[in-house]
Amino acid sequence: MPAKLLDGTALSQQIRGELAGRVSSLKAKGVTPGLAVILVGEDPASQVYVRNKVKACEVAGMHSVLELYPATLTEAELLARVQALNADPAIHGILVQLPLPKHIDSHPVIESIAPEKDVDGFHVANAGALMTGRPLFRPCTPYGCMKMLEAAGAPIRGANAVVVGASNIVGKPMALLLLAAGATVTICNSKTRDLAAHTRNADILVAAVGRPRMLTAEMIKPGAAVVDVGMNRVPEGQPNAGKLCGDVDFAGASQVAGWISPVPGGVGPMTITMLLVNTVESTERSAR
Ligand code: NAP
Repeated sequence: MPAKLLDGTALSQQIRGELAGRVSSLKAKGVTPGLAVILVGEDPASQVYVRNKVKACEVAGMHSVLELYPATLTEAELLARVQALNADPAIHGILVQLPLPKHIDSHPVIESIAPEKDVDGFHVANAGALMTGRPLFRPCTPYGCMKMLEAAGAPIRGANAVVVGASNIVGKPMALLLLAAGATVTICNSKTRDLAAHTRNADILVAAVGRPRMLTAEMIKPGAAVVDVGMNRVPEGQPNAGKLCGDVDFAGASQVAGWISPVPGGVGPMTITMLLVNTVESTERSAR
């Protein structure tokens, strides 16, 4: 495999190690960083994500609260829980796991989180702050992708960066962070004509689509840095059916790319690590 690995597990361990000192300093001042995670409904993937987030908090010596509610919870009841957590001085970060059940509109729920506790960075105030170049919280997944590129020494300033996927939680903030770091950024979506013409021009390629192995070796510029955000299951009938895979065909792409992140072991652990970083930053701000 000519490509160097963007190892999210190893980088996560390093960042969490550095974070431990900041958690200790806060505790010495009598403040323990606190994260509240709310899950509504029984979505199995979401259950795994929230438990991993809460476990990571505990390992880091942080306070965490996991609130699990049945899918029958009303929007008004959820808004009331968020308000209570906004007012709780032991909580410095609030995360409402998405997607929410269909009868709950996610927008008012996200907007009800106090922006200074919005460690996911999804509140419009935080999205706007990111767009205007003064972010309070960088959304965890794109923040983790940037850390991986920086740690690897992949050139960003002046690079052609292509982000495939334009969601509010990954694609758009990813593009803004790359732009802020001096890249020339293209955002692709499902209507993009000739996707390969864009991706072949990418010095940095970020895949955030949700389609297993759709980006293949011939779509990648030799030497590019490829960050794979996708978290998919290998379809039935293919080797390793049911196992986790990314949006990039790792076997082929790793023969062409200069750097590449694996799935699992790439962006996933970094997302959780940056959630811890954001919660500690929030706590430090509140303790000033
Ligand atoms: P999403 O909200 O479904 O957005 C998908 C984006 O991909 C949309 O902008 C869509 O375009 C675009 N798209 C769909 N088909 C395309 C195609 N053929 N060519 C180009 N663009 C296409 O997904 P998301 O929430 O951003 O998540 C994307 C993936 O990342 C999923 O696999 C998710 O599980 C994973 N994820 C991983 C982490 C992690 O921590 N590792 C965190 C979050 C998400 P339109 O805008 O035109 O619809």
